[in-house]
Amino acid sequence: MTISQDLFARAQNSIPGGVNSPVRAFNGVGGTPLFITKAQDAYTFDADGKKYIDYVGSWGPMILGHNHPEIKAAVLAAVENGLSYGAPTETEILMAEKVKALVPSIEKVRMVSSGTEATMSAIRLARGFTGRDKILKFEGCYHGHADSLLVKAGSGALTMGVPNSPGIPADFAKHTLTVSFNDLDEVKAIFAKYPEEIACIIVEPVAGNMNCIPPVACFLEGLRAVCDEYNSVLIFDEVMTGFRVALGGAQAYYDIKPDLTCLGKVIGGGMPVGAFGGKREIMDFIAPVGPVYQAGTLSGNPIAMAAGLKALELLEAPGLHQALEAKSKALCEGFQAAADKAGIALTTNYAGGMYGFFFTEADVVTSYKQATECDIARFKRFFHLMLEEGVYLAPSAFEAGFVSTMHTDADIAETIAAAERAFAKL
Ligand code: PMP
Repeated sequence: MTISQDLFARAQNSIPGGVNSPVRAFNGVGGTPLFITKAQDAYTFDADGKKYIDYVGSWGPMILGHNHPEIKAAVLAAVENGLSYGAPTETEILMAEKVKALVPSIEKVRMVSSGTEATMSAIRLARGFTGRDKILKFEGCYHGHADSLLVKAGSGALTMGVPNSPGIPADFAKHTLTVSFNDLDEVKAIFAKYPEEIACIIVEPVAGNMNCIPPVACFLEGLRAVCDEYNSVLIFDEVMTGFRVALGGAQAYYDIKPDLTCLGKVIGGGMPVGAFGGKREIMDFIAPVGPVYQAGTLSGNPIAMAAGLKALELLEAPGLHQALEAKSKALCEGFQAAADKAGIALTTNYAGGMYGFFFTEADVVTSYKQATECDIARFKRFFHLMLEEGVYLAPSAFEAGFVSTMHTDADIAETIAAAERAFAKL
């Protein structure tokens, strides 16, 4: 028995499923999850002392690699002054000013403690601002686990085959309309049906919770135009894409301005931080200036702000995101070449620092339907072969992969060599 197996057995006695977030349990791939003891740069180390090249990166936040010395120093310096005050601090202003400077559409921003809180609050704000109840989301897009949003969701909900969770009243779910990602005609049709009832469209501008699916040409432009036509709020959920696809997020990468943006993951530098922001006139609808209520005891926590602010400052290094995208590209091209050589049908997608690969005969994957029709059994075998090789991929066929600035050319070459050996065994 490995130490991870032992810990997993013990964990299951006191934690539901042994984990504090479902995908971590390896439900998507089977087997025992690795219990992690430490992480440094591009590597994680498990309880059995094995080292892995890590492409999970805590599910996105570790874009600068694990345990970055400057982020660590910022946290340690902040800790000297106390852990939480529940009162305003100058660091929160610096953080807000930084976010405004980096994310093109954000004029005002409010901090929260998770991506789920960010999307939940943005939806409430869009509903309060428009006086409308319905929201439109896309099948396979995951926006956290708030009631209205856990309808036809991706990520763990998709991995586990429960896109609609028990415990969500049908009366809530009925206000959530869902259409196909990358299908503008469906969006137009549903707006034609409910022209004055849809408060907002919420979308992952690059879908990362049904593997990695970038928007097809004109899709995001089309959403912008539909929202303008029907006075609906366009929300980009950039919890995953923010500061990752580009410094200014997917909205900078594709040059489309949403009305509201949700942020998470990278913005906390590894600490629990989320945020939502956007147009001044909408954001001023939030309490205490506006009528829409939203609050948080630990929102803007000084330690979390110190970590996040330092991460954003470091991400401003010129050329950083181009280098990150080059790593995604090298990884995808390497996987593709290795699969081709082994006669394995594979295709890949990437945008900035996120990527995905699909076991499919299709030339390109652009839809949820295609993503779910891929060879999942093959993915599971590949995942475990790679784990044996010391490469830690996301433990689900429905998650994007992440590179960090600390992944070296040698790490990527080693990963591709491992994939070549794994493909040969499939
Ligand atoms: N939105 C997106 C696009 C996400 O990927 C996630 C988490 N993977 C969330 C929202 C929820 O964030 P959190 O897990 O921090 O609540």
